[in-house]
Order: sequence, then C-alpha cells, then structure tokens
Amino acid sequence: MRIVLLGAPGAGKGTQCKRIAERYGLQHLSSGDILRDQRAAGTELGKRAQSYMDSGALVPDEIIVDMMIDATKKSPAAGFILDGFPRTVNQAAELDKSLDSSNQDIDVILNLQIDDQVIQERMTGRRSCPKCGAVYHIKNLKPKVDEICDNDGTNLIQRPDDSPEVVANRLKTYHQQTEPMVDYYKDNRMIYDIDANKNADEVSTLIFEKLDSLVRA
Ligand code: ADP
Ligand code: AMP
Repeated sequence: MRIVLLGAPGAGKGTQCKRIAERYGLQHLSSGDILRDQRAAGTELGKRAQSYMDSGALVPDEIIVDMMIDATKKSPAAGFILDGFPRTVNQAAELDKSLDSSNQDIDVILNLQIDDQVIQERMTGRRSCPKCGAVYHIKNLKPKVDEICDNDGTNLIQRPDDSPEVVANRLKTYHQQTEPMVDYYKDNRMIYDIDANKNADEVSTLIFEKLDSLVRA
C-alpha cells in the first residue's frame, strides 16, 4: 500500500503516520525527519537545507524531489506512507512521474483538515526526542515523565522552527505553496478528508476505519 498523508504543519501527520506505519507494516517516510537527520549528520544536503528550514520556507524542489524519490525506491515491497512530501504541485507531479515509470501509483491520499487557530497551540507545545524521533505535546500527548522520552529516557527538545514567529511563516508557506497542490490532487484523484481537530485517538480511529475498508475492498 502506498499512502500520502497531507495536512498543514502541526496537523498531526507525524503522529498519525507512526501509528499507520505500525498497523499496516509500512515504511514511514517523513521529509522533515530525513532533512533533520541530514543536518545532524552535517552532510552537504543538510547544510543546503538549513537556512530554508530555519526561516519556515520550503527547501527547493531540486533538493527534495531526488531525496524523497530515492527513499520511495528503496522502500520495502509492503509500501510506504509519505509525510511532508509532496508539498508543491511540482513535487506531486514528479512523484507521479516516478511511480508511473515503474507502473505504480499512490493507493490512498488522506488529508488532515485542521483550523489555523489549533495549529499554533499544537506546534508551540510540541516536544521531540532527538534520539528516536518520538513526538509528544506538553498538554495533549504528554510523556510519562515531563520532558523525558518514554522510549529511551532522552531529554526532549523543542524544534527551533516551532517558535511562534517561524510557525507563522510556515503557515503562510503552507497556504501559498502547498494548498494549491491539494487542489492538484483533488483534480486528479480521490482524496479522503479527515477531521484532525479531534484528539489523536479519535483521528486514528477515523483513519483506520477508512484504511481498513479500503484494504478489505
Ligand atoms: P505534523 O507532523 O503534521 O507537523 P505532529 O504529528 O508533529 O504534526 O503533531 C504536532 C503536535 O501536536 C505534536 O506536539 C503532537 O504531539 C500534537 N498532536 C498531534 N495530533 C494531535 C491531536 N489530534 N490532538 C492534539 N494534539 C495532537
Ligand atoms: P516538517 O518536519 O514536515 O514540518 O518540515 C520541516 C521543514 O523541512 C519545513 O518547514 C521545510 O523547510 C522542510 N521541508 C520538509 N519537507 C519538505 C518538502 N516536501 N518540500 C520542501 N521543504 C520541505
């Protein structure tokens, strides 16, 4: 199964992708996580991406497209779930072209719909484990011990691009550059809208009901 999960930054894509990947045995491919890993490893790609990420702009397509298409090609036969990619019409078209060339397609596109007022609170309260990538929220999805990762005991960090100023810029970027891509998909494919304003378990239930029905069909 090949799934794309769409949604504004902070909509809960990473949180839901981890659950979906586990339930259906898929590889979770997050463009943001891959970029952060490249930065932590000090690679040339990571250095090129740095200033864009820190300001809340999109990293140029010529960097992202190769990086993510390469990741999809290396993914196991069971399939993948894409998180944060594609984010522009051009990225979506390049992904289509690549899948087409190997007679593949995206099977399901899910769109997490969330109100802008909810996003600010989600992103500024987000905490992440720098070691295993687990994501928490200081109020909504707390770790067992404040500021400590449940999985490995590492001190949680706040992403530098989750500051209120950068969040505002990322939202602007989303509305200007990514929403037109949602329309591109709507013109070409069936998209399933999911109400992401609900709590994380309720959102998972909505997604699993949809995916289970598609797997059974
Ligand atoms: P994205 O990957 O779309 O940027 P995340 O999955 O990292 O979003 O979620 C953003 C923040 O909101 C995290 O702190 C996460 O713990 C929290 N969160 C995710 N889903 C929900 C939800 N349905 N309700 C409340 N908080 C949520
Ligand atoms: P995310 O973890 O998805 O919130 O992404 C963090 C940052 O990485 C974004 O603000 C962008 O700067 C960059 N990024 C992630 N995915 C993409 C993409 N598909 N296209 C361009 N930039 C991206």
